[in-house]
Amino acid sequence: MNGDDNLNFEIRPNSAPVSDADRVALLANPGFGRIFTDHMVTVRYADGKGWYEPRVEARAPIPMDPASAVLHYAQEIFEGLKAYTLPDGGVAMFRPDANAKRFNLSAQRMAMPALPVETFLQSLHEIIRIDRGWIPQDPEGSLYLRPFAYASEVFLGVRPATEYLYLVIASPVGPYFSGGVKPVTIWVSPDFTRAAPGGTGAAKCGGNYAAGLSAQAEAAEHGCDQVVYLDAVQRKYIDELGGMNVFLVLDDGTLVTPPLTGTILPGITRDSVIKLAERAGRRVEERPISLDEWREGAASGRVREAFACGTAAVITPIGTIRGEDGEFTVADGGPGEVTMGIRKQLVEIQRGLAEDPFGWVH
Ligand code: PMP
Repeated sequence: MNGDDNLNFEIRPNSAPVSDADRVALLANPGFGRIFTDHMVTVRYADGKGWYEPRVEARAPIPMDPASAVLHYAQEIFEGLKAYTLPDGGVAMFRPDANAKRFNLSAQRMAMPALPVETFLQSLHEIIRIDRGWIPQDPEGSLYLRPFAYASEVFLGVRPATEYLYLVIASPVGPYFSGGVKPVTIWVSPDFTRAAPGGTGAAKCGGNYAAGLSAQAEAAEHGCDQVVYLDAVQRKYIDELGGMNVFLVLDDGTLVTPPLTGTILPGITRDSVIKLAERAGRRVEERPISLDEWREGAASGRVREAFACGTAAVITPIGTIRGEDGEFTVADGGPGEVTMGIRKQLVEIQRGLAEDPFGWVH
């Protein structure tokens, strides 16, 4: 089935789904990534055979041989996106085609087979269709979709596996900021970097996140919400946060964000912010930002606002930047006007409450 872009998914409904009453109770306070829907998608891959056995089936543990290659060599990639209810009762996803493309860029970097974009999109449609009752009705809630693939071949040895499993699971999530949007304090890690030139920084592979856990723990010890990583070569320029891209807003309204040079994840929210800002006539610079420029700009007033962006929280204001040798705060540390304006615009497009000039909502 290699090269065939349209797989026929076999639907095997869960024979013991969560009861309606239990589901409603779970959806009342879903939190993030704690509860899961009744089904999952699975598609297998083998060299010479391509992608095969596309299924929608009951969500269940996946039997795994202890010698499965992923457990030893971490050949694994994933994506994350949301489905949500529109005012007319329809269900929407935001730019799922962009996730499909990024999934394949990650696959390429990790020497894994590409998944046809059509199959990726179809797998999302299938799980949404069967688990539609799990999408929170709360206008700020959503169904978080997690497509992923891993090396399932039973083999010890360092080479690309010849067998893979692709899955999609889904998790209802509540509003990211339940008490209103709150600026985060971020930690400049003196010890850890995230990605070096030539490394895997631009790929969404599990290993990148495992490598960030110590830095995240260090951030928490210093009372910070997230880590901001500096470049691995000079330890001078801003790369990104552990799970979000960074923007500064300058006093003339210009947006500045680090360029895509292979060490940061090409965020879909980042790309959307750039396109919306440029469409509104705002200047956007994709260029290196040094921590010194940020600190000095915050002191002089040149840097007016800072924010982080990603699928989970959409846009999060950055208040304070803390490091081993002190901290500084951007403006008064509160959510900035430009930041909140961009946030509102993006959320309204996503939720079907505003014009969608780029045709992003599916
Ligand atoms: N950087 C990293 C490291 C991430 O994990 C994410 C979340 N996918 C992002 C940035 C933001 O990307 P997106 O806007 O596509 O969610």
